[in-house]
Amino acid sequence: MNFETYLLLIGVPLAFGLWAQFRVSSAFKTWKAVPVATGLTGAQTASRILADAGIADVRVEEINDMLGDHYDPSGKRLCLSTDVYHGNSVASVGIAAHECGHALQHQMNYGPLNLRMQIVPATQFASQILPFVILGGFFFHMTGLITLGIACYAILMVFQLVTLPVEFDASNRAKAILQRMGIVRSGEEAGGVDAVLDAAALTYVAAFVAALGNLIYLIMARNHEER
Ligand SMILES: [Zn+2]
Repeated sequence: MNFETYLLLIGVPLAFGLWAQFRVSSAFKTWKAVPVATGLTGAQTASRILADAGIADVRVEEINDMLGDHYDPSGKRLCLSTDVYHGNSVASVGIAAHECGHALQHQMNYGPLNLRMQIVPATQFASQILPFVILGGFFFHMTGLITLGIACYAILMVFQLVTLPVEFDASNRAKAILQRMGIVRSGEEAGGVDAVLDAAALTYVAAFVAALGNLIYLIMARNHEER
């Protein structure tokens, strides 16, 4: 295993991930400063979209976790960070609408979302044992542990792969709904929503590439150990 291989499979995805994170932060910062003409906050946007879709059993809640916005399908909660919940910026309504996109997927039994929910427990288990498995495998040169590590990374990779259609679909729904309901105006406002949501989508692509890189690297490392 040479350094070039390590750089290509681990280093490049890591750099890509950091760059994607940076792009999300900068897009959020830029569009957090631009209010929408309608003056609606993220929370009001979410309530309107959910009501429009006839979803009455999802609660919109404020959470104290910057950019930790998410839809919780098991608790039927739409969790918005403080900036998004109270903010009436292009970024706030864009992110709120994206999370509503997940609630809509849940309502209509969107296949990839269901699949993603089903593999969450396996994914959590895999990521919890992974550090010990990898450390043990390389320290004690136990091929069995490395094989277990490969299985863990395979689960993580599949999870990140299934996440892609879920996230892209939620953003596409959000963009269309915001326009249709007149919450965001075409032109600058719609362009800002695109910028924020497209930057966020890129972080999911980066997470998938990183999981794939780790998986390939570990498979190569095991073959190297066996020789
Ligand atoms: Zn999402």
